Parts: sequence; structure tokens; C-alpha cells
Amino acid sequence: MVSRIIPVETFDLVIFGGTGDLARRKILPSLFRRLSAGQMPDDARIIGAARGDLDRKAYQALIADALAEFVPEDKRPSELVERFLDCLDYVSIDATGDKGWGELQDKMRDVTRAFYLSVGPSLFGTISQKLASTGLATSECRIVVEKPLGHDLASAKELNAQLSACFDERQIYRIDHYLGKETVQNLMALRFANALFEPVWNAQHVDHVQITVSESIGVEGRGGYYDRSGAMRDMVQNHIMQLLCLTAMEPPSKFEPNAVRDEKLKVIRALQPVLPHDTVRGQYRAGNGEASYLEHAENPDSDTESFVAIKAEVANWRWAGTPFYLRTGKRLRARLSEIVVQFKDVPHSIFEEEKHHNNNSLVIRLQPNEGITLRMTIKEPGPGGMRLVDVPLDMTFADALGPDAAEAPDAYERLIMDVVRGNQTLFMRGDEVEAAWAWTDAILANWAAAKKKPQPYDAGGSGPEDALALMHRDGRRWRDIEA
Ligand code: NAP
Repeated sequence: MVSRIIPVETFDLVIFGGTGDLARRKILPSLFRRLSAGQMPDDARIIGAARGDLDRKAYQALIADALAEFVPEDKRPSELVERFLDCLDYVSIDATGDKGWGELQDKMRDVTRAFYLSVGPSLFGTISQKLASTGLATSECRIVVEKPLGHDLASAKELNAQLSACFDERQIYRIDHYLGKETVQNLMALRFANALFEPVWNAQHVDHVQITVSESIGVEGRGGYYDRSGAMRDMVQNHIMQLLCLTAMEPPSKFEPNAVRDEKLKVIRALQPVLPHDTVRGQYRAGNGEASYLEHAENPDSDTESFVAIKAEVANWRWAGTPFYLRTGKRLRARLSEIVVQFKDVPHSIFEEEKHHNNNSLVIRLQPNEGITLRMTIKEPGPGGMRLVDVPLDMTFADALGPDAAEAPDAYERLIMDVVRGNQTLFMRGDEVEAAWAWTDAILANWAAAKKKPQPYDAGGSGPEDALALMHRDGRRWRDIEA
């Protein structure tokens, strides 16, 4: 397949928190790969900004180490690394004081400007105001933020207000890196560029949808942060909600940022309040040789959930009566993210010999091995009567599109290039984030009122019993969590 990478115009990208974990692990390696792919021009400039007292050389050395750690050796020839390090600069700046702002101003050119706030959300307001008052923020500059975008609806509104006091909505890029994943965008292509699926993409033909984001890792190392957050805030309010929106939304009139985001917002607003018996909270206990949640939490009596399952309902003409089962958890059997659209069975089976139990399902796998599989029923080959068998129709990109497609860019690569291009389609709008919090806040309030402990589940297992029962009682079952 011939690569069709379109280079972006030159830019100045300032990364506040440019020495932090997110910058070192994701943002800078992603930019490096875009330079390597020929998309980022050599004269683009990336300016790290943090309080640490570094000079340009020391910052380049820090990022050279980060590339060595996070980019495979065969993907970083030294000539390319040198070219990338040449793009880097550094300013020692205190977001809450006056140090460094003048120096940053002196460094900026008259080109596309983006400010990535890779710092805690408590600094979003202060940095925004500084950018505005120093004149660093131009009417066309972009500001990039990511989760946690609030802790509840009230704090999300406050964050939005702080950003919109200094920037127009068209300048604000709220990252949910799930939206940058190749398969997630492919879900939109599959739905809206093919005549095949859209006619059956509704309650008449879809039995149910299940969305799973399962992690095999636990909370070790992040116990303090996670304990204040929990699976609902950390995963459901943002990533799972975005996947639900893209699966359930109406076709936008154009593939254009606000048209897409309007349709996603309508889905969130159509979500019904969830009854307490349609939710399950879990917390992993020791199992399969792994430690329990409580061993890593700050509070040894913590009630924080490391697992959530929800039966959600999108109350509109397309989806009335089709449940959306959502689940996410830490320390489960495998790392797996997928959306399963389970179609209804045929109205009448003509194959009497063998009960034709299966129905078609479309499995959209985000990780690992991004790809899309349609499960079909066919005749088992050979003599011996009409025996039916389920087979996958695999749309793994590498097979169809060649090896280049197997090396899909990391979500951050695409999203950062979209910031530079000024395309907000794959970013969340402020009203979407608030609507998602309004829905999750109600569930969190029900849990707080019920004062029930989360149900324990074994580390390395499939989640609490009640989560299985949530589907069993409807005569359905989750797909197995398998790598
Ligand atoms: P981190 O490793 O603690 O880095 C924080 C960065 O901010 C450092 O570079 C720090 O450098 C700088 N900083 C702190 N206070 C500052 C101030 N007053 N003025 C200027 N710079 C300041 O945190 P992180 O993991 O990179 O996360 C950054 C943000 O992204 C957080 O909100 C986090 O929740 C979010 N996030 C992180 C990840 C991830 O994978 N790490 C994923 C999603 C979202 P100095 O101390 O030298 O100033």
C-alpha cells in the first residue's frame, strides 16, 4: 500500500510539564515518530516547559533517554534522533509565578501555536490566564488538555469555565486517546462508508451491544490517584462513554467536527438514568498469585471500585429496547478492549437438525491487535449433512492493506497532528464532557446513598459474579475476556 502522509505546516508546540511522565512516555515519542514518518517538518519547534532548572542541552539529553526507553532501537537511527533533538528547546517556567514567561515569549515565532497542558488540572486555569495576559495566546493558537477533566459535573464545569474564559471552544482540544485509535475511526468508516451495516444498525436487528475495557494490570504505583478516582471516573465517564457514542450515534450530515460532536452529545443526552440493580461495583482481592487492591490503596479500608459493569439504555428511536452492557476493570484475566455488536437471530430457522444457536456479531477490537471481525454462520465443509459452524470474517488491517497498516500510528501521533492541523473531530467538546459527568454523577450518587461495599473478585479473573448475572438474567452472556 502506498503511504499517503500529508506533511503538516511548521508549528511551535509548548509542552507545559515537558519533563513529566506523559510527555516522556507518549507526547515526545509520538512526535518523534511523526518526524520519522515525514509528517512533522524539521523546522517545527517543541518547547518543553517545567520548573526544573534545565538548559536546552540537558533537556535534549532527557528526551534522548526517553526515546531510548520508549521507541524500539530499530526505529530510531541516530541521524533521525539528532534531527528530532534539534527541534527541541526548553524554558524553565513556574506556572504559578512570573519566572520564565518573558523567555517563552521571546522564543515564539509567528507560526501555528499550540500549548499542551501536560500538568495536573489544578494548573489549567492559572496557565490559561498567564497565556492570555502575556499575549502568548493568539486568536488562532490551540490549547490541549486531557483527563482527568473534572471529578464530577461541578468541577468539570469549573474547568471548562477556566478554559473558556481565555479561549474559544474552537481552540480547545480535549484529548481522549481512545478516539485516536485506528479501529475507533474505522468504526465510523465501517458504519458510514458502507451500505451494508447501517440498515441493520438498530434495535430491530441488534440484540445488544457490549463494550469491554479490561486491564490486566492493577493499581500498583497509582494507588493514591486511583483511590480518589475509581473505575467509573477513570474509565466509564470518558473512554467507555466515547465508544458508546460512536457506536450509537446517528450519521452526522458531514464528517466535520461539530456535526460529529453534536451527534455524540445527543447519544449521551438520550442515556436513561441507570437503576441501582443495573450497576455492579467490584474490587479485586488477592488471587492467582496477585496482590489485592487494598494492598496498593492509600486507605486500607477503601471502598473504591476497580471494576464497574452497567446495563445502559439509549432511549431513542434507533435503540429503544437494545441494552448496552458496559464493563471495565483492573487486574482482570487479560488486557482487552472491544465493542461487540450482537445481532438478533434469524426470525425462523430452516435448519432443523441442529439448533442454530448463533447469531452474527461484529467485534471491533481496539487492543490488543486492533481489528474488526464479523462472525458468520456457514455450512461445515464436507459430507455429513447440513451442519452449521461459526466462522470469523476477519478484517485485520495487515491482511487487507499490507504490513504498513499493521503499524498504525499511536493514538497520540494522530491526535497531536490533528491539533496542528486544527481539526477537532476526534476531540471532546466541553458540553459532551459535562453531559457525560451528569450521567455518571447520578450513578455515583446512588452508590454513595446505598453505602454498599464493592463486590470482591479474584485478581486475574473475569470480574464479580454479579457482573455475570447482570447479563445472565437477561438470557445473555459476556464474551470471554481472552488475550
Ligand atoms: P508528572 O510526571 O507528575 O509530570 C508533571 C509535570 O508538570 C512535570 O514536568 C513537572 O515538572 C511539571 N510541573 C508541575 N508543577 C508545575 C508548575 N507549577 N509549573 C510548571 N511546571 C510544573 O505527571 P504526568 O504523569 O506527566 O501527568 C500530567 C497530566 O496528564 C496529569 O494531569 C495526569 O493526570 C495527566 N495524564 C497522564 C497520563 C500518563 O500516562 N502519565 C495519562 C493521561 C493523563 P517540575 O516539577 O519540574 O515543574
